[in-house]
Amino acid sequence: SLPVEEYEPVMHACWKAGEPAPYLHLARTLNLVEQEKGKIKTTAMFCNMFRSLLALSPEDVLPAVYLCTNKIAPDHENVELNIGGSLVVSALEEALGTSKARIKDLYNTSGDLGDAAQECRQSQSLLAPPRPLSIRGVFHMLRKISSISGSGSAGRRKILVISLLNSCREMEIKYLVRTLVRNLRIGAMMRTILPSLANAVVLNCYSAPEKTINPEALKEQMQVVTSEVTKAYNVLPNLDLLIPSLLSKGNTFSASDLAMIPGTPIPPMLARITNCFTQALKLLQGRAFTCEYKYDGQRAQIHKLEDGSVRIFSRQMKESTSRFPDLVNAIREFCNPAVQTFILDAEVVAIDRKKAKIMSFQELSSRERGSKDASLLLHIIKVDVCIFLFDIMLHDGKRLLDSPLCERRKYLRNLVQEKPGYLQLATEITVEGKEAYANNEHTINKVRSFFEEACNSSCEGIMIKSLDADATYSASNRSDSWLKVKRDYVDGLGDSLDLVPIGAWYGNGRKAGWYSPFLMACYNPEAEEFQSVCRVMSGFSDTFYKEMKEYFSEDKILSKKPPYYQTDESPDFWFVPELVWEIRGADLTISPVHHAAVGLFHPSRGISVRLPRFVRALSDRNPEDCSTAADIASMFKSQNRKMGITLENQEP
Ligand code: ATP
Repeated sequence: SLPVEEYEPVMHACWKAGEPAPYLHLARTLNLVEQEKGKIKTTAMFCNMFRSLLALSPEDVLPAVYLCTNKIAPDHENVELNIGGSLVVSALEEALGTSKARIKDLYNTSGDLGDAAQECRQSQSLLAPPRPLSIRGVFHMLRKISSISGSGSAGRRKILVISLLNSCREMEIKYLVRTLVRNLRIGAMMRTILPSLANAVVLNCYSAPEKTINPEALKEQMQVVTSEVTKAYNVLPNLDLLIPSLLSKGNTFSASDLAMIPGTPIPPMLARITNCFTQALKLLQGRAFTCEYKYDGQRAQIHKLEDGSVRIFSRQMKESTSRFPDLVNAIREFCNPAVQTFILDAEVVAIDRKKAKIMSFQELSSRERGSKDASLLLHIIKVDVCIFLFDIMLHDGKRLLDSPLCERRKYLRNLVQEKPGYLQLATEITVEGKEAYANNEHTINKVRSFFEEACNSSCEGIMIKSLDADATYSASNRSDSWLKVKRDYVDGLGDSLDLVPIGAWYGNGRKAGWYSPFLMACYNPEAEEFQSVCRVMSGFSDTFYKEMKEYFSEDKILSKKPPYYQTDESPDFWFVPELVWEIRGADLTISPVHHAAVGLFHPSRGISVRLPRFVRALSDRNPEDCSTAADIASMFKSQNRKMGITLENQEP
């Protein structure tokens, strides 16, 4: 972290205490951050901005955090701005008194609509100085825009956008336009903003921190509050609840101050990839464990609220209640009604009840979309679903996240009355005591035959979960307490990778007019950058190629490689990172051009996947939730261990 002297305000606050903070203050900070690559410096810059907001107008802190992270509401509320690039261009045309052609020309040169707007604004002569924008004013206006619906809504949205654009000063228009097209291009996300705010809160607890507290103690406090804030956000990713609590508690803030609230989804716990049973059992180090079927359906987090309603959230924490009215009924019918609130973790799977057979993931995807009228949807459902429950995080108001899985399972088993084909507990076996040791042949055989049984029951493989004291529910983390062994590892690459298309080349031959190949990347959350893994050109249908040609157009194409894309490849097009695709390959290898996991295995080279093939688009996945550099490095290490390969004989 930076020495405390660096936490001086970078710019003088340009407003009086108690007044709304000007949007210009935020725009200037974003401008400084954009020119700075180092994470420590950018954290200090945001920290300085928050310090002045905390001192002069704390009410603006929450809207500022939203604006800096390109959000307007908690993710699970599904609030959309509903503004496309063309609406912004047409609003700019009116606000700047210029032509669409000029804006498009500038956009084609700079590749950024914000930069294009800024350039037009500079050459525009204004009759009177515009009315200043405030941080909270911009945020409330964006919320207002998102709430407009019904006939003529595009026109009404445009009027509000024009009024915002008319009031822009200095570089405000650049960042406002980028916010409107949902791409701030500063590479700052929650991982930078929350620590910056935590540091600011700690520093502002002292009138002159550089004189009144020893720097080591200050640094330690900053680390503690940052870690508490991150922990709290991992469990309750709702800024509306987190920020007010942080501001009121100051440097005594603790993650446990925030209660879990049914209706606000918890980021799901994820599993570590393992290549074989022996590796999985070794990782468990003789602790008691359970093996469960790994169902191939859709993750569902089921909440029962105090008012008795049931809500369902996807892996991405998006509400999907309206898609599953039958599931809501099953929960009402087969869970103990005396338990007033709960949060459950489960997989929804398509099922043929007559044959008592689990159906494929594709079958589930073909199910009707949600409808406001649940009873109507209930009548037209063609694909039945069964819910397989495997965890519980809240029971009658009691937080169970820190209880071991063996405890949580007791609550889960007491809560439900199983009804085959409708609501069941995940099929499992439990291994305890001496049996749990990895070198126990009997255990390996037991796990192997359970795995085969799972694969024969249309499952993807098994989950191996630790049951002991340290087996807590680790929200939003890939944990060693959950290990997955998938059927596919038997041939080729242990697991598929979830990668983001970041670019593409012009297609040739049959694929002329489409994109082919695509350049795929993983994510490195530490550096907040996408690192290329491979080019992929097989596994796509012609329809998919056409869809992608339409999808990656206009504002989805970047004019140049952004600084947070790491690769030696030079595709013809750079894309905004928005989609996630499942990619399968033969094996992993050290690469001279791809940067995935660079520094984690080889000091200067990345890891690539050989013979990659597209499997499916993962529509419920955010780009930051794709495979990480660390996932790829760990898969590479275990692949090499299995094959007896060392770094030396991997050199290309
Ligand atoms: P994958 O693509 O392998 O499903 P993922 O990235 O979605 O992986 P992982 O953490 O790797 O998530 O694997 C866990 C996923 O498996 C969960 O998200 C859930 O949807 C699914 N699943 C199926 N059965 C179980 C189970 N018994 N316990 C936990 N997760 C399960």
